[in-house]
Amino acid sequence: MFKKIGGIHIGEYDDHKHISDYKEILDFLSPEYIYVPLVESGSICEVRVNEGAHVDIGDVVAFRTGRFALPVHSSISGTVVSCNKKMWHSSGKMVDCIQIKNDFKETRNEESFKKIENPTPDDIKQLAQSKGIVGLGGSGFPTFVKYNVNKKMDYVILNGAECEPFITADYRLMIENAKEILKGLEYIMKAVDAKSGVVAIKKNKTEAIQAINNAITELYLKNVKVLELKDEYPAGYEKYIVQRVTNKTYKALPAEVGCVVNNVSTAFAMYEAVELGKPLIERVVTFTGYGLNNPRNVRIKIGTNVSEVIEKIGSYNTKYNDLFLITGGPMTGATMYSDNVCINRAMGCVLVLPKHEEKATEPCLGCGKCSAICPMNLTPTEIKRVFTIKDTKLLEALKPNKCIQCGLCSYVCPSRIDLTEAVGKAKAFVMKR
Ligand code: SF4
Ligand code: SF4
Repeated sequence: MFKKIGGIHIGEYDDHKHISDYKEILDFLSPEYIYVPLVESGSICEVRVNEGAHVDIGDVVAFRTGRFALPVHSSISGTVVSCNKKMWHSSGKMVDCIQIKNDFKETRNEESFKKIENPTPDDIKQLAQSKGIVGLGGSGFPTFVKYNVNKKMDYVILNGAECEPFITADYRLMIENAKEILKGLEYIMKAVDAKSGVVAIKKNKTEAIQAINNAITELYLKNVKVLELKDEYPAGYEKYIVQRVTNKTYKALPAEVGCVVNNVSTAFAMYEAVELGKPLIERVVTFTGYGLNNPRNVRIKIGTNVSEVIEKIGSYNTKYNDLFLITGGPMTGATMYSDNVCINRAMGCVLVLPKHEEKATEPCLGCGKCSAICPMNLTPTEIKRVFTIKDTKLLEALKPNKCIQCGLCSYVCPSRIDLTEAVGKAKAFVMKR
């Protein structure tokens, strides 16, 4: 059973958030092309347009298939150039994409932007689905599924922890759009009949806490409060936040203990879906790292090519000869081979860092740091060893399936062993059985 969390304090300047967190969000909403990936969080997306066709903003160009079907909307107007253009994807693989060339006319499919006045709880759930809302904190999980609960919820919790180093998109959004986030929270509370709302923010993010508290006062929200989290990684771990709010733990879903948890950016998307009728066609992405001249948060059209945004905000820092690019945060993100990467709905960060001479991995020292830091009380080095010798019974007993892939074990290892990857493989092996 999950009881308490370990973790690490990544100091105020070691977390590198200061290089982007003071700058206002920049709008870059006119890319030359967009690339709609035909895969989302492991689900295949079916093509719904033909090459050569004209599309308007909001047209459904693809449909995520499977148990949690969801439309994918075009974020620009223009012409479909290809339905199988290969592009790099945040999964680290090349995937087929629908490539659309922008005509910069900004014509909209008004049907896709339709609003519902005074929406009922069912209307809000239906809007979450028809507007294509997914978890913007990185999961990409269809949001409407979380709202289809069969009992009254006690809490809706907005996760604003954003605990990985470098990333500041949610932080800026909370400062600049606090009221809209809280209106989104109210709609989600209405959808699941929750009596209370909580916004969880790390206690050192004082400007964001202030902005949310001011908005709570201005909107007279008596049943919403801020929960201050420790400045620790991984403070944003969902089970930890739910436990802080309810004093209860759960097996699979927070709804088991009366909670629905969304990211603050997802609540903002819900506000736009309900009040503006807007499908999920834009999001804020942190472009950061010492390999960029001008790290900052940028509101982009979903599907934009990473390289186009980097060019727009001031390009690469030529002080460094060799750079590498990660999509996602430094702890859980994936290293890319190219900057021609399509920004999908779940992608919240692009990190560019100077490449230092790589030091070789050394043998395990048996220091125990990886086990001591693991928030799930696992023994990563032992899991790695047992997975290598394929002792299935012992491996199952070590419970790699509980790993949340937080990256801390690799981060602290003095021998630079990639334990996260090893535990991830062991987890996949155990879960397949
Ligand atoms: S942190 Fe690295 S060196 Fe220390 S026990 Fe774990 S694997 Fe071995
Ligand atoms: S990546 Fe997995 S094994 Fe490593 S510290 Fe995080 S939860 Fe533990």
